[in-house]
Amino acid sequence: MNCIICKTKVISNTNSLCYFCWGNLVFFDNTGVINSNVVAVIDYNEAARNLIHIFKYKSPWLLCDLFTNWISLIYSELIKSCDVILPVPIHKHKLMIRSYNQVAVLAKKLAKKHKKQCLLNVLIKNKNTKSQSLLDKKLRALNVIDTFSLRNPINLENKNVLLLDDVITTGSTIAECIKTIKSNSNTASINALCIAITQN
Ligand SMILES: [Zn+2]
Repeated sequence: MNCIICKTKVISNTNSLCYFCWGNLVFFDNTGVINSNVVAVIDYNEAARNLIHIFKYKSPWLLCDLFTNWISLIYSELIKSCDVILPVPIHKHKLMIRSYNQVAVLAKKLAKKHKKQCLLNVLIKNKNTKSQSLLDKKLRALNVIDTFSLRNPINLENKNVLLLDDVITTGSTIAECIKTIKSNSNTASINALCIAITQN
């Protein structure tokens, strides 16, 4: 089989990354907490960027087993303690064009493995915002204001919620999601987990 990132032939049948690409990924341990309630699996460096690009635009199915394993290994306690997994949603127009929300694909896989509930239509993205990658930090924060809403908040009543995203850069999207959930429901707790994060 071939390395998912660079397409070099790899000998192993189980590891889908080559020695070189594997070595370029920087993993956090379970103490790698970014702030009190946001954690990440890997640093968003060049290798991670390539991996996330494949996840986002080519095939989330190709990578969701690998990501599920990484998350399960590093954050088993966090997963155990949550009741509900909520993927950060994309706008319905984007969903129509791409035909999937890669984060929802991963959330479903992760929830199934750990026998948790995955709720896809509770946190909703109402505005089709500009891609955050085109904006600086200040504009990113403005870009996501009032973007999300909560449908049937009763589903989150007294629940420990785990928000899932693929990449966190400035953190403005995840902060807006947390704000929307907090101000519209009575959750027991909200934590956020992403695959890759930019460390400043
Ligand atoms: Zn490689």
